[in-house]
Amino acid sequence: MDIKHWFDGNSHSPLIIAGPCSAESEEQVTATATALAAIPEVGLFRAGVWKPRTRPDGFEGKGAEALNWLSKIQQTTGLSTIVEVATPSHVEQCLKHGISAVWIGARTVVNPFSVQQLADALQGTQTPVFIKNPVTPDLKLWIGAFERMRKAGLKYLAAIHRGFHHYSEKPYRNHPMWEMSMKLDRIIGVPIITDISHICGCRELLADTAQKAVDMATDGLMIEVHTTPEQALTDAQQQITPMQLETLLKDIVWRSKSSVDNKSLLAMRAEIDDIDSEILSLLARRMGLSCSIGELKKQNGMAAFQPERWKQILSEHIDAGKSLNLSEELVTNVFEAIHKASVEAQTDILSRN
Ligand code: PEP
Ligand code: MN
Repeated sequence: MDIKHWFDGNSHSPLIIAGPCSAESEEQVTATATALAAIPEVGLFRAGVWKPRTRPDGFEGKGAEALNWLSKIQQTTGLSTIVEVATPSHVEQCLKHGISAVWIGARTVVNPFSVQQLADALQGTQTPVFIKNPVTPDLKLWIGAFERMRKAGLKYLAAIHRGFHHYSEKPYRNHPMWEMSMKLDRIIGVPIITDISHICGCRELLADTAQKAVDMATDGLMIEVHTTPEQALTDAQQQITPMQLETLLKDIVWRSKSSVDNKSLLAMRAEIDDIDSEILSLLARRMGLSCSIGELKKQNGMAAFQPERWKQILSEHIDAGKSLNLSEELVTNVFEAIHKASVEAQTDILSRN
């Protein structure tokens, strides 16, 4: 499949990107690609050619030599290929070898200089570019990378959610933040692929995480596949065999992103819309009162934030929420957001002359 057709399609059928973490030898990468070419769901063959390693002296990829293997794979299997690029020279070499698409890794996206250099190197081509989330949950950096590519005239763009660094590695290697990818989609409007291999860091969590990603309306999955995963030179614990990939894909219950035409669904959504507009009017009324209180606090020399009152109302709301079957997490999140906006409005009033 020409990967550009997937972008051009109106409703994206899920894109499955599979292949080894690293291209290690011509035999390994060709054997994996041949097995994957026989799995109809696989739309794009991945292989790392330059490997960003946290510490030196590990396997750092085969470089340009591996691009020759991938070009051959494209010709013999018909699979499109995707490679990670981190420097303009990587881009040039991929273009020279006719690699179908590139991805920008999590460690590169954190650096706007690097991302700009990649955008400059890709300018004038219509290479599909897949951009992983930065290691840290900085949505603006991720958005900025898309903006740089768009400014360079690139239009075949997709995001890859590969989870975020967190101090405890359990249970995930990189913690998924589904809400972050939803925000990116709302702001930038690109398809989002979920890299379950780098989220999980181990084989055991892959199936459940793939299903979760599909339930969260992912546009595709990136999965690391190796003919002999235990012997892989990089990311051995998270790679699976082509056969395991087949089983994993077969077991996924695919969900549609669009709504069915159903009367009771429509009726319940209409009711939700009414409730939301009530919530909005109540919020506006509450903010109005909050501002009047702000004036009063100012006249009486009170701080905008009153810790005792806040502790008291939050704990009362949590208790009231429990009796209404609302979780502590939901009540806390909602009232923290409301209270924060309230305190900000009042500090504005206090600081005015
Ligand atoms: C990879 O896909 O092999 C890789 C290095 O990923 P990330 O940039 O997500 O760490
Ligand atoms: Mn990897």
